[in-house]
Amino acid sequence: MSSLDSTTATLRRRGLRVTPQRVAILRTLHGLANHPSAEDVFRTVQRDFPSLSLTTVYRTLETLAEHGEVELVHVGGERVRFDHRTDPHHHAVCTVCGRLADVEESQPGLADGLSIPFFGNERPRGNAVVFYGVCTGCRSPATA
Ligand SMILES: [Zn+2]
Ligand SMILES: [Zn+2]
Repeated sequence: MSSLDSTTATLRRRGLRVTPQRVAILRTLHGLANHPSAEDVFRTVQRDFPSLSLTTVYRTLETLAEHGEVELVHVGGERVRFDHRTDPHHHAVCTVCGRLADVEESQPGLADGLSIPFFGNERPRGNAVVFYGVCTGCRSPATA
């Protein structure tokens, strides 16, 4: 019923021990604007759990990723971003502000028919394609 119950149920379903910290981290990931970094999650969770370290937050997010509950998004640079969406989709990243937007897999022709011998001709996994550009928010109105 409540999102706390569903978060707890999610952890149990994944065979993970339910701790208040894990529940808070997962809830924060779902609550934050799309694709936060571990630091973003840390800053929010810290309000309720001041003793929690960034390392713990990072490890918890990695554990959730290992269990398929979270996707890691590599957008270049040092920071890994975390995605609560685990269904196949792609990403667009703004090179100015670093914001990330989802690009739906269903857009026709995006990865269809793509043959990559490096992958043994397997289709690339979802979340694998990252597009770079400057978002509409960062584009100066004068040049638009
Ligand atoms: Zn931008
Ligand atoms: Zn995403």
